[in-house]
Amino acid sequence: MQISRITVLSGGMGGARFLQGLLHGIRGGEVPGVSPEAQVTVVANTADDIWVHGLKVCPDLDTVMYTLGDGIDPERGWGRREETWSVRTELAEYGVEPTWFGLGDRDVATHLVRTQMLEAGYPLSAVTEALCRRWLAPVHGDGLRLLPMTDDRVETHVAVADPDEPSGRRVMHFQEYWIRLRASVPAETVVMIGLDRSSPAPGVLDAIRDAELVVLPPSNPVVSVGTILGVPGLRAAVRDTAARVVGLSPIVGGTHVRGMAEQMLTSIGVEVSAAGVGRHYGARSRGGVLDGWLVDTRDEDALPALRDAGLEAAAVPLMMTDPDATAAMAAAAVSLVAPGATA
Ligand code: GDP
Ligand code: CA
Repeated sequence: MQISRITVLSGGMGGARFLQGLLHGIRGGEVPGVSPEAQVTVVANTADDIWVHGLKVCPDLDTVMYTLGDGIDPERGWGRREETWSVRTELAEYGVEPTWFGLGDRDVATHLVRTQMLEAGYPLSAVTEALCRRWLAPVHGDGLRLLPMTDDRVETHVAVADPDEPSGRRVMHFQEYWIRLRASVPAETVVMIGLDRSSPAPGVLDAIRDAELVVLPPSNPVVSVGTILGVPGLRAAVRDTAARVVGLSPIVGGTHVRGMAEQMLTSIGVEVSAAGVGRHYGARSRGGVLDGWLVDTRDEDALPALRDAGLEAAAVPLMMTDPDATAAMAAAAVSLVAPGATA
């Protein structure tokens, strides 16, 4: 029996890069146990979303959409390729904030379409479907679906120490912490505004329940996968699905490869290690969300502790250097939790 339905809970760059390799491997018949025609559903984080200059921007949805639709700038890893920046320059000339947010000219078209549709009353899930008709359908047909985790407004905010403030701290949108401050100061707390009152977007719970394999890619465990799992009902769906659930560590050799997983894990008191993140997600057999956890070969010594925590665990190279290397990671993840699936 080959796996034909896979659901991936994704953030932006780490998730998108993993998905690119996963799809490359699956369609090339290089992921043993998975049908080359397998349907892949992506449930993407929307807690990074921000309104800027009157436009609704969804960084993680767009990074996944542009990456898998071959429109991404490969060097930056976000935004459109062959981008120009006239809109940003003109806005700066007016002196309007925020000047730190990178709105490219080509990218602006996406945000204009999205904002107009939202204002006409369409939910984000319907808007995303419409945008994906341009980006995903031509490349992937109907073998790939992208769903926002929720249609509701959820925003991650970060508190940092600030002696200039009467309270001694300043709270800002996650994007400001990440882009303007470059996550260079410790995050005292991370708050997901609206998360506890949100509902899963249409199709999300079914995609988890009906999947044969659920994957937690090497995405940020706090502000990407953590927020997705925090949508009420979602964690329970992952815990209860008949699918096998496997994750790949975003922490390699005690640090994130790129991004700021380290700062976020520290702020919630989770050890910054492959074992720490695996235990944080936890084994489904003990109330967590994972059956298996893949770590990098450099973290091989974490395997006994992970197995003690009730997880199936293995160590393989986890650097997403190119689609072939990433496809090999995906294949290792499948064989860890579904060794019985045959080609
Ligand atoms: P974001 O929304 O753009 O921050 O992207 P994600 O949340 O999807 O993923 C970001 C995380 O991916 C980073 O914090 C890293 O820990 C992880 N990451 C990035 N590149 C690699 C890689 O090559 N290998 C592994 N194992 N993790 C990676
Ligand atoms: Ca993100």
